[in-house]
Amino acid sequence: MKNKYELHIRTIALQHDVKVVQVNRRYLDVRGSCAFMDHDTGARYIVVPNIRTLQDYTAALHEIGHHATGWNSERSTRERRAWAWARYNAIYPLDKRLERNARASHRRFDK
Ligand SMILES: [Zn+2]
Repeated sequence: MKNKYELHIRTIALQHDVKVVQVNRRYLDVRGSCAFMDHDTGARYIVVPNIRTLQDYTAALHEIGHHATGWNSERSTRERRAWAWARYNAIYPLDKRLERNARASHRRFDK
């Protein structure tokens, strides 16, 4: 049976026409998850660790937020918007530590 976190991610992904690909964490790189669009078909995807915990939920909601808030701005703005969207749309309070860590790692990647 799907857990409450996965259920909400599935629901909100459907609403935003985003396909959710869940993989074992070991196959993901250091950032842990990503969002991308297939430019041939226009299909929107997120690739995330299997959604089990609040951390997984937080990461997946953030990635859907990238699709929901668009790609036409610079990296730091896109990240800020995706987090704002995730906080607004969360039905379970997000993992603040994960968000802080992600912000810190994005700052490193941006340099
Ligand atoms: Zn992001």
